[in-house]
Amino acid sequence: MAANSGTARRKATNVLLDTALQEFYGAADEMGLNERLIAILSHSERRLEVSVPVEMDDGSLQVFKGYRVQHSTALGPSKGGLRYDSAVDIDECEALAMLMTWKCSLAGIPYGGGKGGIACDPLSMSKKEKERMTRAFGARIASSVGTWTDVPAPDMNTGGQEMVWLMDTIGKMRGQIEPGIFTGKPISYWGSRGRNEATGRGVATCGLEFMKKLGKDPSQVRAAIQGFGNVGSFTAKTLHDAGVKVVAISDITGSYYSPKGLDIAAAFETIRNDPKRLLNGFEKTGCEKVEDALFADCDFLFPCARDGVINKDTAGKVKARYIVEGANGPITPEGDAILNDAGVQIVPDFLANSGGVIGSYFEWAQNLQGFFWTEEEYNNRLILIMKENFKRVWDYAEAKKVKMRRAATMAAIQRVAEAVELRGLFL
Ligand code: GLU
Repeated sequence: MAANSGTARRKATNVLLDTALQEFYGAADEMGLNERLIAILSHSERRLEVSVPVEMDDGSLQVFKGYRVQHSTALGPSKGGLRYDSAVDIDECEALAMLMTWKCSLAGIPYGGGKGGIACDPLSMSKKEKERMTRAFGARIASSVGTWTDVPAPDMNTGGQEMVWLMDTIGKMRGQIEPGIFTGKPISYWGSRGRNEATGRGVATCGLEFMKKLGKDPSQVRAAIQGFGNVGSFTAKTLHDAGVKVVAISDITGSYYSPKGLDIAAAFETIRNDPKRLLNGFEKTGCEKVEDALFADCDFLFPCARDGVINKDTAGKVKARYIVEGANGPITPEGDAILNDAGVQIVPDFLANSGGVIGSYFEWAQNLQGFFWTEEEYNNRLILIMKENFKRVWDYAEAKKVKMRRAATMAAIQRVAEAVELRGLFL
């Protein structure tokens, strides 16, 4: 048998995928992972592309492209969200699927990594159009998803409603419902109390643990949050409830700033009353509109919007000394280097935002049992796991004298590598 795989190391033109691959190779080399495992884990098990024909409200037909990538099922069914966004493509899904493998591994839950979505502009579509698109997509990916194969969840611009359309479509195709096939479902249909808030609650918990390690009193900390969707909004709320002064928030309508701290309850009220659930008009509550929440005068920054926002052009303008990545991949490698040189400390995405998938695991476990927990039980378990995981990465980083991102990647790879070794090649 050859000593190693002989497989050349992959390079990708897609920035997100290349970043994921290079971070993987860097961590794998640092931990001395053998070349066979490097070759296996640098490729995805399945990259699925489907066409999604949709009859639009005006009677015209549009064919969207949909994707589902299963990076690894070494630890269990692949797990990860489905996003609706114009930037979605197969390479982006692969990068995010790989990130999910590390996220689930690090979180200590029995899943591999997957990701998918549809290239579309959901904000310009009606609810009916989105329903037809979601159901058509569900039918196309039905052959590869399932409770014990691949379990999708919400991601950017998707939520409980999309999960129900998908579950209903596949349930009708199979003639039976399968509650554990999707997570992030609404409470009224097999969902769990606590899941909707879980990602943001987890991001904020990481932020609060970080403050504790740094010896900072939350009431003396000023935080800025980019993005006020599912992740950003509950990050803001949880931090605010813990006494942190949230000085800046933002969404596609703009960035809102007040050095005295923003009225987060009023921000929730604003999105509740907005048809697109945006912060339209929030400045009327007595704050000013500024260039970008990313550059706000603050101590802690929580980028919770999208990938690549902190890059070679923007990193130098960031004033925060500490960053907790709520979004997946918000900092490019060039941005990371600039921040590292400036001494900024970063909690990586797949640790910071793992509350979502840990919450999904709770939901899936409840679905398998057909027995639901209380919200208190759910939140307590979530916070406990987030705190433990933060501590594990912090300690590992201190022991190995590496940044938290590298420490987390190495710890995550270790668990997946052990599963591959145990199971053998024919995964
Ligand atoms: N979309 C979320 C993430 O990126 C949640 C995935 C899940 O629950 O499967 O982590």
